[in-house]
Amino acid sequence: MITIELVEELLALKTDPFLISSLYLNVNEKRFSRKDYKIQLKDLIKKRRQDIKNIDFDEEIKTSLEEDFKKMLHYVDQEFSGRGVRSLVILSSSKKNFWQVYHLPQPVKSRLLISSEPYVRPLIALLDEYKRYCSVVISRDKARIFEVYLGEITEHTEIINQVPGKIRIAGWYGLEERRIERHIEDKVHHHFKEIADATLNLFKKKGFDWLILGGKKENLTSFESHLHTYLRDRIVGRIDLEPDTSLHDALMKTREVALRVEREEEEQLIRRLLNEANSNGLGVIGIEDTLKAIWQGQVNTLILKDDLAVPGSICPTCGYMSTEESECPHDSIPMDFTPDVLEEAIESAIIQNCRIEHITESQELDNVGGIGAILRFKINRTGLNF
Ligand SMILES: [Zn+2]
Repeated sequence: MITIELVEELLALKTDPFLISSLYLNVNEKRFSRKDYKIQLKDLIKKRRQDIKNIDFDEEIKTSLEEDFKKMLHYVDQEFSGRGVRSLVILSSSKKNFWQVYHLPQPVKSRLLISSEPYVRPLIALLDEYKRYCSVVISRDKARIFEVYLGEITEHTEIINQVPGKIRIAGWYGLEERRIERHIEDKVHHHFKEIADATLNLFKKKGFDWLILGGKKENLTSFESHLHTYLRDRIVGRIDLEPDTSLHDALMKTREVALRVEREEEEQLIRRLLNEANSNGLGVIGIEDTLKAIWQGQVNTLILKDDLAVPGSICPTCGYMSTEESECPHDSIPMDFTPDVLEEAIESAIIQNCRIEHITESQELDNVGGIGAILRFKINRTGLNF
């Protein structure tokens, strides 16, 4: 699972004097067959081998890189199924026994880099895009806490130190009965308070985006009153779930809410984009204008349809991108053809630390070419507008 902690660990990785090979391979089955991406990997490796030949590295360093390549080829050929994966990421430094494989749900530009540190920018962009959900499922005497992120579920129930057991009842008459009821209610409130504290602890540690509550309605009402205000503000759904649920059910029900929330957020973002673009504000729509805005460093949020791929060209000198021009208007030189200019656009947006939002379904976005961007600033004839 890609987490902030993981990226931090990767950034702190020391493999000196050896180098790290970072492979990003677009294995999106809607666009590439298994044969396609195997060929692509071989091509990438061939190019890097050529580079290595021309650089004066120690033999040991070269051997380590060669081992990385061989292991990558073996993995893609023998171990990788490709099912349900859009991109494959491998980070390797063989002589340091470092080998990590990640499967990403988003397409990336295929590339193989060799450097003293792992290439993690696409991973950081992914962290920005995906929301982390926390599901707290309660009953009067039990509780379970789950975290759902990138379609995976992790249980964090261990952060509740002590869940009170069943209360034994000796007598059951009159005054005694009321006293015991009160006692039980106190215990239940104490139990809810404990879960609320544990949820807050998880929030401080992990910083989830949204909170989903599961349980009986009357229990949830009482439990919510124990939650810290900024956790209450994060509640996006209440589901009918009991703590003895299976991990699979918890994941499915959480996912349902997550999909709804994500859809709503995407719709809001697209409405904002269209409003900005149509009122000549801080928004551009359509591929050519969006490519220009990225090239000019104007983009704050790049919004594009999930599986959009458009052939185009990119200038080898200044990086100017277009789907219409074949000669760079700035350098007056022929531009390089690329089967998908959006890969270049996304790469450029990642380098500029833009927010990137992939949209699964939107007729409104389809109507404007499936792509647009919310801008940081606008360039017009009279100068800069913020
Ligand atoms: Zn150029």
